Amino acid sequence: MRDVSPGSKLSSRLYLPAFSVAAVAAALIGIGWSRRFGGARFDSSVSGLRVIAIGPISLVAIGLFLVAERVRPAQRRPLIARGHRQDLLFTVLNATLVVPLVTALTLSFSEVARTTLPWIVLPRSDALPRWAATAVIFVAMDFCNWFAHLANHRVLLLWRFHELHHSQEDMSVLTVFRTHPLIHVSYLIALVPAIVLLANGALTTTLLVVYGTMVAFAHSNTNLGFGPLDRIFVSPNFHRIHHQLDGPQDVNLGFALTIWDQLFHRAVFPTEATIRTDTGLPGRPLIVEQAALRPRHLAVFAAQLVAPFRPLNDLSDPPSRAGPSASRRSASSPVQEDEKGSRIAVESVAT
Ligand SMILES: [Zn+2]
Ligand SMILES: [Zn+2]
Repeated sequence: MRDVSPGSKLSSRLYLPAFSVAAVAAALIGIGWSRRFGGARFDSSVSGLRVIAIGPISLVAIGLFLVAERVRPAQRRPLIARGHRQDLLFTVLNATLVVPLVTALTLSFSEVARTTLPWIVLPRSDALPRWAATAVIFVAMDFCNWFAHLANHRVLLLWRFHELHHSQEDMSVLTVFRTHPLIHVSYLIALVPAIVLLANGALTTTLLVVYGTMVAFAHSNTNLGFGPLDRIFVSPNFHRIHHQLDGPQDVNLGFALTIWDQLFHRAVFPTEATIRTDTGLPGRPLIVEQAALRPRHLAVFAAQLVAPFRPLNDLSDPPSRAGPSASRRSASSPVQEDEKGSRIAVESVAT
């Protein structure tokens, strides 16, 4: 007999575990707000984060990367492809609502960690120069981001928020902003090194701008590897393999440094064959702007934001577990295959 209880009805219409992420965010911010964010000034913290995300230096760097994409593209596509317009919507979302959200999460998480686990904050040590402590924070933060990113691929609940980032088929530097606002809950762990070494060093705004622009550049549609420096830094050709349509996506998880992928045997270095790889998700389990005859950017944008809360279907598994396969591609999706098996979308761009 079918279960028709109110609980089962609800779970057939919603993916209830996703609400736990929203609840964690709300609880953290509630605690932080009630403690006045540990004395930190919320307004100036918002301004600081906005400088990092879309300040003058970041915008100039993004502008230069957009030019580099035109001069030396990995894949040729129209200047204003559908994916670029969609990612512009996510850029605006980040510049407006996500910056205060991430600021509140950051201040709240730091306050809760410092007060509930005060022993994790190391005392000031004269043996550790300030620059060295700052370097340690930078590298350890990058490792924490790598680890959280791996969790995003391995834990279904987190994957439901991360798959939006992987759904982009027209990658550009703006794809760095194509993330669900609540994904930032999983990356709060990257604050831990800065909390531990609080008394010894701190990341400056300049360093965080450099870090942010490195991560943005990795998403660029530029045919560029770093040669021997690929062994240390994430290049666009390296990160594109992480977004590849045909192949495992739980490789090349690094944000700025490739050392973690090499250490944990998850590094795949670029070759001529991988440079022009198609990107996106097999079977389009998430609605994408390239799918329909008309892009309907705002409707797709809204659908992408509510998607993690929608019920699971059999196409929602992370590609690392499901494995890309033509047989999993949706029959109703307006996707055709060319003779090489790579995906081409019907009327996909610049319409
Ligand atoms: Zn990923
Ligand atoms: Zn990415």
